[in-house]
Amino acid sequence: MPSRYDHTRDDLAELLDGTPRYRVDQVWSGMYDRLTEPDEWTNLPTTLRAELAARLPMALTPVTESVSDAGDTVKFLWELAGGSRIETVLMLYPGRATVCVSSQAGCAMACGFCATGQAGFTRHLTTGEIVEQVVRATRRSRQLGRRVSNVVFMGMGEPLANEAAVWAAIERLHHDLGLSARHLTVSTVGLVPGIRALARRPLPVNLAVSLHAANDADRDALVPINRRYPLDELMAACRDHLAARNRRISFEWAMIDGVNDRPSDAIELAGLCRTLRPAAHVNLIPLNPTPGYPTVGSPPDRVQSFRDRLEALGVNATVRRNRGTDIDAACGQLAAGQPVVLSPR
Ligand code: SAH
Repeated sequence: MPSRYDHTRDDLAELLDGTPRYRVDQVWSGMYDRLTEPDEWTNLPTTLRAELAARLPMALTPVTESVSDAGDTVKFLWELAGGSRIETVLMLYPGRATVCVSSQAGCAMACGFCATGQAGFTRHLTTGEIVEQVVRATRRSRQLGRRVSNVVFMGMGEPLANEAAVWAAIERLHHDLGLSARHLTVSTVGLVPGIRALARRPLPVNLAVSLHAANDADRDALVPINRRYPLDELMAACRDHLAARNRRISFEWAMIDGVNDRPSDAIELAGLCRTLRPAAHVNLIPLNPTPGYPTVGSPPDRVQSFRDRLEALGVNATVRRNRGTDIDAACGQLAAGQPVVLSPR
């Protein structure tokens, strides 16, 4: 097991075989309530603490931590067993703090405009490696006097390509870290079987779909997996998800200059949203620069007129402010390989 957070409570009981059950509860509480290290679990005997420290390692080795937005965005770069690297982002907002987690090292979906997609796939993360990202970001958040309220699976990787591990992490976040499922969001490139699996799971997490184009020809070019799961199948899965959950679905739309920001794009997008009414919401994110993609983000006035056009067509749309562009922490910039500046705090 790479991380102590890979263990279930039953695994721990087995590992601590011979110690009374309340000890297991104390360990679990140290891990999930206090979020501390074994040597700080002073309610346990010293010898047991030392044994636990040795037998329950953490999986993520900190490499760098970068800070942006006057301290409101923190990006963590971690090294995993085996040497691959992943990133996690903590974002503090007035009244809410969100952790953006990675679900895979790299990504196999090959969206050309995304830095993670440009780098290719290395491996799936385990449940513990996902939960540990939240635990570590929450530790930092607590040091800053803030409680983590939301988790988004919008870091590196395609969460629904690693659905079982992601789902087990969601259960741990909900049941053990005390994060309400309604404050957890899974973002997908549009893996239809994964969306259908998610709709059958017992907790009502939010679904976000990275759409970026509203006709198959354009989407095939931007999001290659569209050739396998074209828009009509994707929209059918979204409609079924909506029917099962009665939760608003979000569509992510990275605005790319001259590519998907034309009036005709807004009209097509509104057409798709109408099939999900009244419960679709569009998030417009001006494309962030990445090394492997020449096209730039739409200028602010085109973003604004695209938004206005959607609203006029009856679609709710929000322009998302970009976080952490200067530390390569913004949407689509997580590459875990580029040099990062470590800001002193
Ligand atoms: N694989 C999942 C999770 C990644 S979430 C998914 O595709 O949804 C990261 C979000 O940032 C996705 O919506 C992705 O399409 C978007 N994105 C990728 N590259 C981007 C870029 N260069 N600028 C802005 N958004 C980008």
